[in-house]
Amino acid sequence: QAKAQRGSTLRFFEPGMQAAISERAQLEADLQQAIGAGQFLLHLQPQYDGAGAMVGAESLLRWQHPVHGLVPPARFIAVAEDSELIVPIGRWVLRSACELLARWRHAPHLRDLSLSVNVSARQFRQDDFAELVVRLLQDTGAPAHRLELELTESLVLEDVEDSIAKMHRLRVKGVRFAVDDFGTGYSSLSYLTRLPLHRLKIDKSFVHHLGESHSDDVVVQTILGMARNLELEVVAEGVETEAQRAFLARHGCDLYQGYLLARPMPVAQLEAMRLPPG
Ligand code: C2E
Ligand code: MG
Ligand code: MG
Ligand code: MG
Repeated sequence: QAKAQRGSTLRFFEPGMQAAISERAQLEADLQQAIGAGQFLLHLQPQYDGAGAMVGAESLLRWQHPVHGLVPPARFIAVAEDSELIVPIGRWVLRSACELLARWRHAPHLRDLSLSVNVSARQFRQDDFAELVVRLLQDTGAPAHRLELELTESLVLEDVEDSIAKMHRLRVKGVRFAVDDFGTGYSSLSYLTRLPLHRLKIDKSFVHHLGESHSDDVVVQTILGMARNLELEVVAEGVETEAQRAFLARHGCDLYQGYLLARPMPVAQLEAMRLPPG
């Protein structure tokens, strides 16, 4: 067993040495058994309001690989999407998030937190996606209005009618929706008014150069102004400096997420941050 794992390490890191099985195929095979082997876990990154209160968290998937250690999503989500493995993995994420919300419901210091979950296109396009989420909410007893699903612009726009239909089916149950990485996609703004949206998340690539790049300043101010008119909340992601936070606050940003405030962390650590003092 240990020997086989060393073999997979070589293929993983040195594609030039690959034998019959490619690095990607090995990654896929490893992914295939990762759910059953209990290798996935959720990290949570807090989201804060303008007064500095933690109001929610985003769930960010991590893979505890027996050889490669803690693998970030950038290393495996794309492969999971291409191979359809994202469907069972995404189901695991949704179920875990609902179980967490159900548990928080009974804890006075945690029950008012919302939880955001990233949804990939392949997963959302499944015919039974909305039914799946409704069933998970029922099975776990999670409060639907604390669950927020993050969709990207490109996901929504690849089939607007299907997106609207599924979003409405979940919206009537109380589930909320955010557009993730806002500003990086097609930015066809007319679709925004047709969707039952709650939030926009400004992509961190715009936040990064705030105050240094005139064009990014304008983009962010424009998003904030537009969101105000549409009565959408705005979350800024990737807030790393006090100057970025101050700029966003000056222009009416509602919520803040980023290394300046807190990094993604294990669930127990976030829960401990909310414990009343004493
Ligand atoms: P995202 O949804 O846009 O998540 C934000 C990413 O920015 C996270 O990376 C987070 O750790 C990182 N981040 C947060 N604050 C800062 C900051 O101040 N500076 C910088 N440089 N980065 C910051 P992470 O956890 O590596 O996730 C990357 C992407 O993987 C996510 O981007 C999301 O698209 C995807 N992802 C994560 N979890 C899931 C999941 O459960 N399902 C699906 N389908 N995709 C997921
Ligand atoms: Mg996200
Ligand atoms: Mg994002
Ligand atoms: Mg992003």
